[in-house]
Amino acid sequence: MRTVEEHARAITGLLSPTPVVELPLVETSGLVLAHDLVAPIDLPPFPNSAMDGYAVRTADLGAFPVTLPVSQDIPAGRVDTLPLEPGTAARIMTGAPMPSGADTIVQVEKTDGGTVRVRIDDAPQPGVHVRTKGEDVTAGSTVLPAGTVLGGAQIGVAAALGFSHLPVRRPLEVLILSTGTELVAPGSPLGPGQIYESNSPMLAAAVAAAGGQATVLRFVADDVAQFRSALEAAAAGMDLIITSGGVSAGAYEVVKDALTGHGVDFVKVAMQPGMPQGAGLFDPATGPGVPVVTLPGNPVSAYVSFEVFLRPAIRAAMGYQQLTRPALRLPLSEPLNSPDGKRQFRRGVVDTGGGTVAPWGGPGSHLLSWLAGADAMIVVDSGVTRLEAGDPVEVWLLG
Ligand code: AMP
Ligand code: MG
Repeated sequence: MRTVEEHARAITGLLSPTPVVELPLVETSGLVLAHDLVAPIDLPPFPNSAMDGYAVRTADLGAFPVTLPVSQDIPAGRVDTLPLEPGTAARIMTGAPMPSGADTIVQVEKTDGGTVRVRIDDAPQPGVHVRTKGEDVTAGSTVLPAGTVLGGAQIGVAAALGFSHLPVRRPLEVLILSTGTELVAPGSPLGPGQIYESNSPMLAAAVAAAGGQATVLRFVADDVAQFRSALEAAAAGMDLIITSGGVSAGAYEVVKDALTGHGVDFVKVAMQPGMPQGAGLFDPATGPGVPVVTLPGNPVSAYVSFEVFLRPAIRAAMGYQQLTRPALRLPLSEPLNSPDGKRQFRRGVVDTGGGTVAPWGGPGSHLLSWLAGADAMIVVDSGVTRLEAGDPVEVWLLG
């Protein structure tokens, strides 16, 4: 039997880093910046007003109130601003360029708002409401280091610096194919002995949440020829194929039957759920072979296997520095049993107030509604068979 770590290494080793591509800003959300982002300009690019009000010279203010003639109007975007004539005020809007000679912005609330003459009742210290050139970003400085995960704020500063595109590691292209003659697409009537196919939409969502780009082939019956032709038709251009079902010890194990001897190793991993696993390179007649990971069919097994093996591997290939879920140790709120010789992954719910974690549902790998209600994974070491309430366990916080 393989350890969890051995199988994790085998899967991570299958995936190559995705290429760096230049994507439009709006398509970079959640992706990893591939190169340092160096500012081509200062931010702000010119000194401007932080308030709607009046640009004045402090020397002209004297004792309050003071009335000055308004010598010009400076809305945001004005490009032909004149130097401020001594003894006058310029009416100015937020973001408008400071006229040369002015050192103070009096916010409109401290004035009578006049347009010909303005009465100023009070003024701040010089410079208070003036945004100086380069005070946020200096041209030539590194604003975002390579490896940054791009969110709204990071995309915002890139746009402010004038970038229309950013270099990112492109999302991993993942093909998902489920197997099972008993499966029916949700939305169709369910016949006797049939169940709705749930793994492919579940795994597609998990791929997307990990940062990848999923293409769902949905499912094929337990038929080797059908399975192989479905894969061959869709494998081109994929970085990874994930299958579910057909890898355990029974008869009609379609994935195992189709891929044994074709570049995929079928192994047992010392874990529960998720013992039967497979990984390797799918060998279409042409090309170098596409990485394929064959997950067990039970929905909870498939999900846990994705979480343990595929999520970190996908994230590594896409350049994320944070590969694993946030992990902590929390006391159990109730006891649990675990099989000897296997690392157990149990669904859990964290009580943030009490600082404990509760096992959520039993260990059964068909208990999908309990998986759906969980917010954590409880990880029990392979040598441990029993934990009591109050015993600390490793907990992964599922996002
Ligand atoms: P298998 O790994 O193919 O032996 O399947 C194990 C169990 O998981 C069986 O109860 C299957 O019906 C179920 N199963 C397999 N694939 C899926 C799927 N895509 N959606 C829902 N259940 C599945
Ligand atoms: Mg099956």
